[in-house]
Amino acid sequence: MPLDEVAASLYAWDLADETTERCLDNLQALAGVNSAYLVGLMHKEKRPLHARFYPHNPVRKYYTPEDSRVYWRPAPDRYSGRIKPLTSEREFLAGTDWLDTLISDARRRGMKTGCEISHTVIDADVARAKYPDVLQRDVFGNIVGTFEAVEAQRALPCLNNPDVGEYLAALVTDLVANHDIDFVQSCLVMFGSGFSRSNTVGGTRSGWTDLIATATGGCFCDACREKAVKEGLDWDAVVREVRHLALVSRGMGLEESHEAQVLRESNYSEAELLLEHESFAAWLAFRRHSIDDLFALISSAAHAVRDDIDFRYNTYMSRPELAGLNFASAFAHVDSVRESDYSDQLGTAEGVAIKRAKLMRARRALGYDKPLIAALGVRPNATPEILRASVKAAVDTGCDGLSLGHYDGATMERLRAVKDGVAEWEGTEADWINRP
Ligand SMILES: [Zn+2]
Repeated sequence: MPLDEVAASLYAWDLADETTERCLDNLQALAGVNSAYLVGLMHKEKRPLHARFYPHNPVRKYYTPEDSRVYWRPAPDRYSGRIKPLTSEREFLAGTDWLDTLISDARRRGMKTGCEISHTVIDADVARAKYPDVLQRDVFGNIVGTFEAVEAQRALPCLNNPDVGEYLAALVTDLVANHDIDFVQSCLVMFGSGFSRSNTVGGTRSGWTDLIATATGGCFCDACREKAVKEGLDWDAVVREVRHLALVSRGMGLEESHEAQVLRESNYSEAELLLEHESFAAWLAFRRHSIDDLFALISSAAHAVRDDIDFRYNTYMSRPELAGLNFASAFAHVDSVRESDYSDQLGTAEGVAIKRAKLMRARRALGYDKPLIAALGVRPNATPEILRASVKAAVDTGCDGLSLGHYDGATMERLRAVKDGVAEWEGTEADWINRP
């Protein structure tokens, strides 16, 4: 299939600092971008992410956003539940609908448009103060965070909490009903995967130590317990077994720490861990089905407003299964997938091989009729040569498009490499039609 879509993400502050016109001019001219989307609900993450400073922002050297703000003007009547969206209080961003700002210029150029709801949807500090009951809990009752140390005070909402489900459906229906977008992209963090690394760069490791670490993640909140009991799970047995595995994983307690050492010096396997701990395995399956249910809820909410909306999931983890996400069952509820691998950032052929493997995995689970979009890390750690090889990986794996992440950290040379790579690997249908 041809790489029909070349998408690019933009942040509200990119549009404010550089102007929408300059951002889209660069993306269109250099990379052949024909689809633009706003990261419309952004978590707190220093930008640019990998480099210390912006390569081409004329106003500021870097930016530290507020946590989980929406950058469109939310329609209040959509949010009848407990959880309400927060907008930016920064003077240069407040009051503007940045999604509409992007859409009007993008449509003038004939581009597709979209909006992303990124990793977290609730400001962690606000949630801790106003609705702590909606947050994921580990088996000891602690709030579950992600990405950083617990001290950073991150917090994840529980996907099984009805208030969270209602809020997510409201966000999506607000976007679809009130904005001229073709797709809603979600890269929501799933269940806390515990003390293991699961990044957008790099490959998949295997072994029982990563799997057992999920016992230190989420979720054990009241909403999870209620849902699990209703589905016939022996919750007390689950808690007993997961608590033990969490202690072994962390090496807490003399007995558990000794057991962990014995296991590490043995040839124990993931399969044996699952066979041995049936309640733990049942809990992992419960998390998987909970995510399937959430995807179904978001998809049906979006499609109830507009049937032709494209609900796209951005899979960003190198080991999504540790967060409870099963591609095959969850992807039954999406219209397209963006595989958010940025292994181009390793700047090596091995990184490209990792990308290829992740795309192949997503392709098989998604089936062959729904669009698969390959992310490209167009930032300075990737060379133009590596980016052209990444385009080949997208062609090799039957992708239907590319999606650049992210313009704010890109150099013009890297953007040019996208267009060059598409030409080199004959990614468009025009490349396949040659008349004498
Ligand atoms: Zn929960």
